Amino acid sequence: MPVTVAVLGRPNVGKSSLFNRLVGRRIALVDDTPGVTRDRKEGFQSYGGRRIRFIDTAGLEEAAPTTLAGRMTASSEAALQEADLALFVVDARAGLTPSDRAFAEWLRRAPVPVLLVANKAEGKGGATAAMEAYELGLGDPVAVSAEHGEGFGGLIGAILERLPEADAEEDEHDPDRPLRLAIIGRPNAGKSTLLNTLLGEERMITGPEPGLTRDAVSVEFRDAEGRVRVVDTAGLRKKARVEEKLEKMSTGASIEALRDCEVAVLVVDALLGMDEQDLRIARLAEREGRAVVVAFNKWDAVEDRSATRRRLDDVLMASLAQSKGVAVVPMSAATGKGVEKLMPAVRKTYAFWNKRVPTGALNRWFEGALSRHPTPLVEGKRIKLRYATQTKARPPTLLVFGTRAEQLPEDYRRYLVNSFRDVFDLPGVPIRLQARGTT
Ligand code: GDP
Ligand code: GDP
Repeated sequence: MPVTVAVLGRPNVGKSSLFNRLVGRRIALVDDTPGVTRDRKEGFQSYGGRRIRFIDTAGLEEAAPTTLAGRMTASSEAALQEADLALFVVDARAGLTPSDRAFAEWLRRAPVPVLLVANKAEGKGGATAAMEAYELGLGDPVAVSAEHGEGFGGLIGAILERLPEADAEEDEHDPDRPLRLAIIGRPNAGKSTLLNTLLGEERMITGPEPGLTRDAVSVEFRDAEGRVRVVDTAGLRKKARVEEKLEKMSTGASIEALRDCEVAVLVVDALLGMDEQDLRIARLAEREGRAVVVAFNKWDAVEDRSATRRRLDDVLMASLAQSKGVAVVPMSAATGKGVEKLMPAVRKTYAFWNKRVPTGALNRWFEGALSRHPTPLVEGKRIKLRYATQTKARPPTLLVFGTRAEQLPEDYRRYLVNSFRDVFDLPGVPIRLQARGTT
């Protein structure tokens, strides 16, 4: 079920123009003459993984009865009935009219959240002009220019914040919800041993023989900050019985655990070094969009620690593009030494993974990034990026819009992602970038 956003406001404030921008297609007619758009227009677009149905009410008001109240309620009310969020559009250039104030009065009693949008706020004086809309008592106005495509990053962010949560995401807002941790790595790296140490008691049986780990899907413990659930310990249990199958099975189990977790601890056997199998598992974590912390285990048995550390770091750096700066914890799961540093590193990475960058800072970064390194030409035509918005966290996901943005080459995408990671200091977290072309 998509959520529904209704675009409301008096005639000529720019509802159709706004709707066109949001939906990304030219469906509604735009004209200077009030009342040119006739029928109610609907369009769908996805933002931040949410499918949104937009309703444009432009042109609906004029046909209605002559009284102000009658005009506003007849058709807008119908749209509002279906909406999860109302965008109330005012004209920042024209300033507030009695009609706007009456509309606002009516919307204050609306059963859905209202987002105030001050349109036609392009250029230098735009933001100041938009300020007047505060008077309406509907909260902070979002200043945009539908015609020039300005301010849409902030607008989309504000829309996403006010939408009701999708069902599947619901429990993510329970403050006492446990952090979901996966312990991944190849067989014999010391995953079960680490889990036992974390649990602080011999709740699971480990040993050199395969198949001994207690049968469980998840277990919980508490660290300094709260509950932690270790997911899919059944994956830990699935120790292979046949040597040749070892590799395949551990990867399979890791995939299951990764789907279910927020942060993955990749346990590496420091005695053996990082090999292709470790890297494959780490890349899976990146691909699934999980935050990663690396444990260099069996540190107690490592002879030349600084050389080993250097060797492991080098492989990590060279192989995991997205995990630049990933937290690394040398430890001995067996003796417990160093294990106390693991959960603080996990919590820190988890916070990065959850990070939401404020719109202002995001815009400044975006402008800076574009000016330091202009967008490339594709087939002789320049890609013009207009705005960026962070559509979600967990992991941080950026959406950039612009002409031919969908053709943005991979190296430029990587440049933007790395620049974003550096500026907002988000090591060890995959960052996603979506690019959407606009008309
Ligand atoms: P609606 O009646 O609320 O749907 O308004 P329209 O989208 O039809 O726009 C009304 C007029 O305002 C048209 O002439 C648009 O070109 C113009 N308009 C829309 N958005 C902007 C904007 O951001 N800046 C300026 N300057 N004009 C705009
Ligand atoms: P898993 O297959 O990844 O769950 O690995 P286990 O936890 O079963 O450990 C595999 C083997 O490595 C066992 O013999 C453990 O005793 C040993 N081991 C685990 N952690 C350490 C450690 O920190 N130091 C040393 N020296 N051995 C360890």
